[in-house]
Amino acid sequence: MKIAVFSAKRYDRDFLNAANASAGHKLRYFDDPLDLETVALAAGCEAVCIFVNDTADADVLEALAAGGTRLVALRCTGFNNVDLKAAERLGLKVVRVVTYSPYSVAEHAVALLQAINRKIHRAYNRTRDSNFALDGLMGFDLHGKTVAVVGTGKIGRVFARIMLGFGCEVIGYDKFPSPEFEALGARYAKVGEIGETADIISLHCPLTPETHYIVNAETLARAKRGALLINTSRGGLIDTEAAIEALKSGQLGGLALDVYEQEADLFFRDLSSTIVSDDVFQRLLSFPNVIVTGHQAFFTEEAITTISETTIQSVTEFADGQPLSNEIKIS
Ligand code: NAD
Repeated sequence: MKIAVFSAKRYDRDFLNAANASAGHKLRYFDDPLDLETVALAAGCEAVCIFVNDTADADVLEALAAGGTRLVALRCTGFNNVDLKAAERLGLKVVRVVTYSPYSVAEHAVALLQAINRKIHRAYNRTRDSNFALDGLMGFDLHGKTVAVVGTGKIGRVFARIMLGFGCEVIGYDKFPSPEFEALGARYAKVGEIGETADIISLHCPLTPETHYIVNAETLARAKRGALLINTSRGGLIDTEAAIEALKSGQLGGLALDVYEQEADLFFRDLSSTIVSDDVFQRLLSFPNVIVTGHQAFFTEEAITTISETTIQSVTEFADGQPLSNEIKIS
């Protein structure tokens, strides 16, 4: 089957080629993201393979269907960038990678948390400049602190288990509470309790219309003063301008992001020789208590191997007319 792979980086090519070695699909790689301007590149390809910042809205899906595409294969977990209703209307199947190393993302969330708490980013710069002063680098013990996990699915539960290992009290919030979370030794709490008690809040729920700006001026005002906020899920969960105000007032004690609501214009490319025009993002970077990584939480060898193998397996299932193990259905 011919697959048009959009937003293809060197590592995508290497890992997808390896996964495809025995499957024999014809992979066509494009550096560009999928959008209305680039969709014509997929003409004649029965499948397209896309990533987190590719656009698969109704217009793009219509153009894909007109060009002969029948399968949209997301090489990621989240699918907020796909108009599923339009896909269904057009007879396009959509698959994703339901499960791949939840450890990759959860462990990155812990790395961000400890970096922002213990000021590792500042210490790194200081010691390279032979500045070994400790002023401004004080953190706090994680032991005994209350950690709120918003979204207690696969990644949230791994994160919770690690936090329990640090000796934290772990509380959770989820639209669909799971006994597996409680079995870890964590417990569910109401939003109010999270606001009042959490020293650390880590976001692990998907981006949906319901969770868009789940962290906003109102929820930030109700948070414990000085709390740390970690987001490795999707940028749209946080109203960034409200977070900036909370950082300015000290209400938010620190912010560590792997995702950003306008990241599609920034991430996954080298902009070091250009002027970044996103003033909100630039303001974020000006805070000493903000760390941003460019959507790299998933980026471990184990995760990319599974992502590539699952994607190729989904295309093979589709080509062979088998049931699709990783299909996204609207319900
Ligand atoms: P999952 O489906 O296992 O867990 C998501 C959890 O969120 C579920 O328990 C679900 O019930 C809960 N949820 C859904 N709606 C909610 C709501 N309105 N309020 C509270 N909770 C709600 O997914 P996962 O594998 O744990 O992944 C979680 C998210 O992590 C993904 O949706 C994706 O956005 C993000 N992610 C980021 C990266 C990265 O590299 N930064 C990589 C993979 C996944």
